[in-house]
Amino acid sequence: MTGETILIVEDDGILAAQLQNRLAGFGYTVLAPAATGAEALAAVAATVPDLVLMDIQLADAVDGVTVAERIHAHHDIPVIYLTSFSQDAVLEHAKDADPYGYLIKPVSAAELLASVKMALYRHAIDRRLKRSEEWLSLALWGTDMGIWDCDFRTGLVVYDERWADILGVQVADLAPEFASWERRVHPDDLPAMREAFAAHLENRAPCYESEHRLRCQDGHWIWVLAKGKVTERDRQERPLRVCGTLLDISERKRLEQELRQLATTDSLTGAFNRRYFLDIVYKEISRAQRYHRPLALIMFDIDYFKRFNDEYGHAQGDAVLTGMAALVRQRLRHSDIFVRWGGEEFVILAVETTLRQAVALAETLLAALHEESFADAGPVTASFGVAEYRAAETLDQWLKRVDDLLYQAKQQGRDRVVGNGGAADSGANRAAN
Ligand code: GH3
Ligand code: MG
Ligand code: MG
Repeated sequence: MTGETILIVEDDGILAAQLQNRLAGFGYTVLAPAATGAEALAAVAATVPDLVLMDIQLADAVDGVTVAERIHAHHDIPVIYLTSFSQDAVLEHAKDADPYGYLIKPVSAAELLASVKMALYRHAIDRRLKRSEEWLSLALWGTDMGIWDCDFRTGLVVYDERWADILGVQVADLAPEFASWERRVHPDDLPAMREAFAAHLENRAPCYESEHRLRCQDGHWIWVLAKGKVTERDRQERPLRVCGTLLDISERKRLEQELRQLATTDSLTGAFNRRYFLDIVYKEISRAQRYHRPLALIMFDIDYFKRFNDEYGHAQGDAVLTGMAALVRQRLRHSDIFVRWGGEEFVILAVETTLRQAVALAETLLAALHEESFADAGPVTASFGVAEYRAAETLDQWLKRVDDLLYQAKQQGRDRVVGNGGAADSGANRAAN
């Protein structure tokens, strides 16, 4: 027994009985043959068979093709047509009802078995394929992934609707070529994207993976994650086809950026925190040493800030810290790293900056403070220590030197700059080192 159930729809009783006997002999379960469309539909409703053998010409108001269409309205059952002649027009009509084969009467046993086996096999495969297609589209729908398919033989890239959707375009508006993708990539991201692609094509990487920015139709940038794999290679291992996915990761990138910001900056002043300084200062030191470039550190501390807090309140004190940070930031170069060292103490790591230049910068800040009136509480002053990095000294030694200089500025009366290696001019106040 094969277990499959077959329904024969045939108005010729003798032929029906012959087919029934043969199929039963092959081990199939055969339902009582139906002679009309109505009987066929009733039989299918009562016992859903795995296969229907359908006579095209029924002695009935409806023909076999129409009956098959009615069956297919509710059931996915393969149908093999039986016909006593292979008339093109009849077969053409039968094509519309998704046939799994035709048998011309009279049917030999071998032909019958081969057709039935083939129809059942093909139908099982179709079903599996359909299910995996459903699963795939469901999975893609759940992940919001776009699909791309690049064929090197034709030079064409096919994008699916979701891919286009991510960029706010219609598939029809995308040129079917790789350039239509590359044209949208942020110029800063393009070299890395190309390298990742080449690395996979040349078998240096197990897959293609690239995070890059793409320009949407309305001009704004989104972050995407593109992944892909070569699916076909020729005998020389040259890639013929690469397929992959595209995912919008803008939100993840935004959160990462937010986290990075939280981890590296001070929330009150927006200056970097001490942890960030310690993360990058070694790199700057080694670069300064390797290329013999100047590197300077400015450390400053607000004068009598405790008194200020006591007099005006902590909230006003906070406003001074925020305002002072803004004032300082306006006067820094992009490459300067401004750090809240702790409390009311700040550090500026100035790259490509000599002692003289750093002292000048500190003087500028000192003067700017004299001009400013924070939170209606009048001017606030600060004391500055400035030291250029000396070859081979440790970070601790350097920090100690600049801290000592700041201490000297306090000792000498505050509101001044003390630079390493000599007194620095600080306007009204002159500090001797
Ligand atoms: P000096 O001139 O010697 O630096 O005197 P000072 O009063 O500034 O120094 P001290 O170290 O005695 O006091 C620092 C004050 O800074 C004490 C503290 O309340 C205040 N402070 C530190 N962090 C903050 C902050 O985040 N907000 C406010 N409002 N005050 C702060
Ligand atoms: Mg202070
Ligand atoms: Mg202090």
